[in-house]
Amino acid sequence: MAKIFCVANQKGGVGKTTTTVNLAAGLAKVGQRVLVVDLDPQGNATMGSGIDKRTLELTVYDVLLESSSVAEAKQHSEKAGYDVLGANRELAGAEVELVSQERRERRLKTALSAVKDDYDFVLIDCPPSLSMLTLNGLCCAHGVVVPMQCEYFALEGLSDLVNTIKQVHANLNPDLQIIGLLRVMFDPRITLQNQVSDQLKSHFGDKVFDTVIPRNVRLAEAPSYGLPGVVFDSSSKGAQAFVEFAREMVRRVGSM
Ligand code: ADP
Ligand code: MG
Repeated sequence: MAKIFCVANQKGGVGKTTTTVNLAAGLAKVGQRVLVVDLDPQGNATMGSGIDKRTLELTVYDVLLESSSVAEAKQHSEKAGYDVLGANRELAGAEVELVSQERRERRLKTALSAVKDDYDFVLIDCPPSLSMLTLNGLCCAHGVVVPMQCEYFALEGLSDLVNTIKQVHANLNPDLQIIGLLRVMFDPRITLQNQVSDQLKSHFGDKVFDTVIPRNVRLAEAPSYGLPGVVFDSSSKGAQAFVEFAREMVRRVGSM
């Protein structure tokens, strides 16, 4: 049965999408069956997996509004090595359209339960907000992966996310937990980043993943080729770190 993870952080530009597509590609590389769900209307995870969001007839939007199943709407990305339930601008409307509907925060959970035996991992790329879309992701997840940069304000933003996760855990999804904080775009030459990294470890202990993702230009270049960095340049430091992270996730899930 698939383990479902949200990649979430309400800040934009912190590396959620990069983490989602590269963790997915890393997991595929070590033999796992993976579905990426793009819950961001920007559709970056869709494009970054080699699926053209502009030509999609069915997306996660149709799934949330119950006019399509996941099996019908998903695409297979040959190049990336995993399946994608894509998103595009249309998804921005879902927020408003769901307001008047029943079980609105559980739509994705219901839809994913039909494909749970088809995958080992489902990774949900969340938008940079704590919105109804993110709530749909948190409602169906076993865990949250929180990518963060080791910068001065990093810890400040974290408390809102931690509180939201606590509330969802208490009211909607007792399975939900933070599986881990992932240090991304890390530059070991910067003293402040090392200090924040140490703070994170002393504050969150085991919840900080061992793997650290370095700042690596190949990871940033890959989306313009419609590929995860892990596939675009598998020998790059960034790609190697994400494959290592995939292995760490497999180990953690084994002990969940
Ligand atoms: P989010 O999804 O949280 O908005 P992205 O994953 O889109 O963040 O990352 C924001 C920007 O940072 C993108 O341009 C991405 O290519 C770049 N980026 C992310 N991770 C790395 C990294 N480890 N090294 C270099 N650039 C990165
Ligand atoms: Mg993103």
